[in-house]
Amino acid sequence: MLYRSYVRDMLELYGHEPSVAEHEAAELFALQQRFAMKSIAAEQHDPGAAALYPWAEKDMGELYRSIDIEPVLRTGGLEAVPEKQNWYVGSPADIRLAAAQFTSERLPVLKSYAIIQLLHNYSSCLPAAYAQLNARYMEQLKGAAAPEPMTQQAQERCWELLGEAYGRQYAARYFPEKVGSQVLQYAEDIRAAFRNRLVKADWLGKSTRTKALAKLDAMIVKVGAPREWPAWLDTITVLPPAQGGSFIDAALAIGQQRRTIELDLIGKTFQQGGWGDMLPQTVNAEYDPADNSITFPAGILQLPIYDPAAPAMQNLGGLGMIIAHEITHAFDSSGAHYDAQGRLRNWWTYTDWQAYLKRQQKIIQYYERYRLPDGSQADGKRSVQENIADLGALACLTDLAADDREALQQLYSSYARIWREKLTPAGFQRERLGVHLFGGIRVNAVLSATDGFYEAFPVTPADAMYVSPEDRIRLW
Ligand SMILES: [Zn+2]
Repeated sequence: MLYRSYVRDMLELYGHEPSVAEHEAAELFALQQRFAMKSIAAEQHDPGAAALYPWAEKDMGELYRSIDIEPVLRTGGLEAVPEKQNWYVGSPADIRLAAAQFTSERLPVLKSYAIIQLLHNYSSCLPAAYAQLNARYMEQLKGAAAPEPMTQQAQERCWELLGEAYGRQYAARYFPEKVGSQVLQYAEDIRAAFRNRLVKADWLGKSTRTKALAKLDAMIVKVGAPREWPAWLDTITVLPPAQGGSFIDAALAIGQQRRTIELDLIGKTFQQGGWGDMLPQTVNAEYDPADNSITFPAGILQLPIYDPAAPAMQNLGGLGMIIAHEITHAFDSSGAHYDAQGRLRNWWTYTDWQAYLKRQQKIIQYYERYRLPDGSQADGKRSVQENIADLGALACLTDLAADDREALQQLYSSYARIWREKLTPAGFQRERLGVHLFGGIRVNAVLSATDGFYEAFPVTPADAMYVSPEDRIRLW
């Protein structure tokens, strides 16, 4: 209902008659609903399906049955792909489903959709009434108690439109070089610990293990900020209002510029080591399978995750866990499709993959014993790749603590601290659809499955976190 009234108010503000806007909102809601009900299922719930499918250009028409796709591609600036090259499609089932909505009867609703997307995405650059409507919608969606202060809104716009320029300043101020070398050292220590675990994984055959080790050795580590910045940052012109410029014109020009850069990449050799969408100020980390790289922007290198002055074990329980978590994604059901250079080549043997799936199944079952804050059962299947990553990460870090009781205590306490969280009911509803489980489960489930936890703390079978040794699962 929130979506419907937002869409109605936006379209009315845009100048549509109230009754027309009301009708359009209902139609748009139905369109989204039709799509959402069917598309959530397959890919998200099948952890093995996170692949890209090669698609010959001549077969694109099969994906988009109800429209003539070729002129659409050309109008969008996409050149024809040569005969022996392919397009890569992320989710053919979802595309077919979306394409089935493109019919002449639905033309009016598709037009409304195009308008609402433009208004929604650019609302903050339009007259204040649009920005306010959007801000109220986002607040309600997040369950926020108060509107975002103006300074924060301004900062976010700056981040969205000029993320790289903002990032260059951010890195210069908050990313000292010695932090970079310390984090790289942690990453190398963890890489060595994970290497050791791969060598010892006796359920892997020789071929898969050799390829896994080569992939681990070739993995690129990116820390803090990119070394090079895009040239357009220094050439873009933003005109002040006195010279006839406007916020929306500048925003559209920047969008156009980004599009040109993206189109320009087509047909060029892929360069490893780029930062893609990651910005220095981003508080996140990622494994990029197409690049075989892990990235830790300057934004995540702060408390409670990392502190250059903290003892190593505290940092390893925070940032170290995140580094090791990202590394394991190179070896899960999504990483399995990409080789050491990030090419789409599955490097697992059939037998070893079956052994992986068997272990994965046990992890799915293990997590189903946990309950979400509303009492419902944790979705062990949807979250399985993340749980495998957490379990593998803590196993690596436990090896690095080398049976030192105090070091283990510091490591585990720090890990528990980084996942402290508070959620509003709306936030809970949103988060429960993600692939990560809630912080409390991420911490308790992994600790309970780790032998070192029982060495570090006096946990007995009478404690709620006790799991008997034969049920302490992990994959790596
Ligand atoms: Zn992850």
